[in-house]
Amino acid sequence: MELKGRKVTVVGLARSGVGAANLLADMGADVTVTDRQSEARLSEMVSRLVPSVRRVLGGHPKDLFMSAEMIVVSPGVPLEIEQIASARAAGIPVIGELELAYQIMDKARGGGRIPFLAITGSNGKSTTTTLLDYMLKKGGFKTLIGGNIGNALTEEILKTVRGETLNLRGNGKGCNFPQDCVVVEVSSFQLDSIERFRPHIAAILNITPDHLDRYHSLADYGSSKARIFENQTEEDYIVLNADDPEIEKVENQRLKGKVGGPNVLYFSRSRKVKGIYFRDGNIYCDMPRISCLPEHPFISAADIKIKGVHNLENAMAASAMALLAGCPQGAVIESLREFAGLEHRLEFVRELDGVRYVNDSKGTNVGAVMKSIESFDEPVVLIAGGRDKAGDFSELSELVARKVKALVLIGEAAGKIKDAIGNLTDTVMAEDLKDAVTLCRSKAVNGDVVLLSPACASFDMFLDFEDRGRQFKKIVEELS
Ligand code: ADP
Repeated sequence: MELKGRKVTVVGLARSGVGAANLLADMGADVTVTDRQSEARLSEMVSRLVPSVRRVLGGHPKDLFMSAEMIVVSPGVPLEIEQIASARAAGIPVIGELELAYQIMDKARGGGRIPFLAITGSNGKSTTTTLLDYMLKKGGFKTLIGGNIGNALTEEILKTVRGETLNLRGNGKGCNFPQDCVVVEVSSFQLDSIERFRPHIAAILNITPDHLDRYHSLADYGSSKARIFENQTEEDYIVLNADDPEIEKVENQRLKGKVGGPNVLYFSRSRKVKGIYFRDGNIYCDMPRISCLPEHPFISAADIKIKGVHNLENAMAASAMALLAGCPQGAVIESLREFAGLEHRLEFVRELDGVRYVNDSKGTNVGAVMKSIESFDEPVVLIAGGRDKAGDFSELSELVARKVKALVLIGEAAGKIKDAIGNLTDTVMAEDLKDAVTLCRSKAVNGDVVLLSPACASFDMFLDFEDRGRQFKKIVEELS
């Protein structure tokens, strides 16, 4: 991919757009970035751009797309917009920021591929990606971590190679990437705009309804996730959740019987599989080339620091990937014992009057909330609501009826949630988050859990899920 002097339009000015534009400019491309929002609203991102990047903000003029030699799209921008569709129809290459990062790294390394370890799924991506990176670092690997987790890969590449000229001609010298591998969290939006992206080891954690405001159906969304293994060959590995019916569908359609496709391994909470699985309180490992005794526990589940049924799955997925990458077993086990999890994911805040308060602000869809509720044996007082992402809240019915002693609703989706499941338990509407916590306090007794796990996005009331989680923690800390 020759970039010097090439006319590139970068669409979308969030972190990925800034990363892509700056990296392309550093490599000598003629870069213009465009966003629908105004310069005033994007001032922070604009300030991060290097001066040579041109900005066309407040709209997407069509000629900027039609005159480009390549278009790089940020994950937040739907590929269906008219300007992109027309450019594609005219034969202009359109790729995503992840694909750009992949192609640059793949070409830049002279003496062979730099392995990508990629994780996707509806929920658990950030936790699993961070845990995998933790394991690999403990095992002595130099890793580069990025993607949907919050730092664009292009941004990380630029930091790594600043001062060196990336050599994309493949003349054997290449650029000196010091890393042994790239650990990347991948969203379905990023997978929609790949071309050659080929992770050496990949995992799909789960496929449950999410982002149905952007996909036509769950099947479409699943197809998007499946693209993670689209370019893999028999040299590569895909790790799948054996307990997930949507993943099974994807596997049956796209992997079974495929000649030359990746090696498939599994993780499971419910049965013995080729890969890694949970049985009677222990994790077992049965993988090719890994010298675990199949009948000897790899680790007891009680020794894994991150708790909850979903985290057991995340722990198994990360372990399988790390072992496949050649990480020593000792480093994997030690990491499972040490890794404490991420903020805003089933994060314990405090105990007051025997009631535990838990911040799961990142529980932004129904699937995540189901796993979070399932993780507690105690009765749960649940705070849910926010901006609806076309979620089907009735899927929570069985769990709410069984485990949620009270439901406190906030935000735009409060009415929709009440209509779907409000008849199954004591349900109240709150004015705001503070009011919600006060109501929870009045309903919870010794031994209960107050859980913020909203099943919705946060943007109706907060800056983002982190802001929502931090505000929750502050309110809870201030309870006297
Ligand atoms: P992602 O990056 O995919 O959003 P996170 O690791 O940030 O995932 O976790 C987001 C939320 O999803 C958590 O707060 C938790 O409620 C839920 N969760 C985490 N792991 C899983 C899993 N394996 N299955 C289902 N839900 C999960």
